[in-house]
Amino acid sequence: MPSLTFLGTGTSHGVPEIACSCDVCISSNPKNRRLRCSAFLQQDGRNLLIDCSKDFREQALVHKIDNITDILITHAHADHVFGLDELRVYNRLHKDSISLYMSQECDTSLRTLFTYIYAQPLQNGGGVSSLENHVVQPGIDFQASGFNIVPIPVMHGKLPIYGYRIGDLAYITDCSYISDESFELVRGVKVLVLGALRYQEHPTHFNLDQAVEAAKKIGANQTWFVHSAHNLEHDKVNSELPDNINLAYDGLCVRF
Ligand SMILES: [Zn+2]
Ligand SMILES: [Zn+2]
Ligand SMILES: [Zn+2]
Repeated sequence: MPSLTFLGTGTSHGVPEIACSCDVCISSNPKNRRLRCSAFLQQDGRNLLIDCSKDFREQALVHKIDNITDILITHAHADHVFGLDELRVYNRLHKDSISLYMSQECDTSLRTLFTYIYAQPLQNGGGVSSLENHVVQPGIDFQASGFNIVPIPVMHGKLPIYGYRIGDLAYITDCSYISDESFELVRGVKVLVLGALRYQEHPTHFNLDQAVEAAKKIGANQTWFVHSAHNLEHDKVNSELPDNINLAYDGLCVRF
């Protein structure tokens, strides 16, 4: 049975935030410590990463991730892709490039953000990651690391991004709007991962109420909220949420 491990469940600032001494940032509950958002899927000894966060190095060390060949990218914001620089170690170990799957917009943004990776470097130094971008189309399935995957187009404020359906699992982060067509694409999933930023509304992310509403509409057996800010205290929020909807936490592993 495939598994998903939450490598990071925090918003772009991470939790604790730098220079903050609110109750959540100084909490001794490890579930209130959130690295930047990413997840790791495993099946039959094969690994699939979703996003490559700013905290990827730490995440890879904690979870002893020794092999990656494929990565699903949701969008090109710094918190989701600034770990791509770390991947050169896998290129060296496995003497192969790593395949990245993404939207057309995301491909364009990554080539701008990482000119030193995608253009030929003047000299190699410590090496650069060798990445092979594959543009995938909304609603059209493809295969990676033995998984069947469907890109789910959603809106992140004004930015169109991808969530992904992987069999009975859907992973949708950084989302503020899901169209009827995209709700249709995730119909019947058993496990849902969904972004829920904070109590207050936000222009580019679901707040808790909006995330609960979307989760109920999708109706998965289990829903796990991610990309949460320091306004959300783990135990308090979970005690307020419906029984089958919970805040995820770094290191949680679920089977699907
Ligand atoms: Zn984000
Ligand atoms: Zn704080
Ligand atoms: Zn974002």
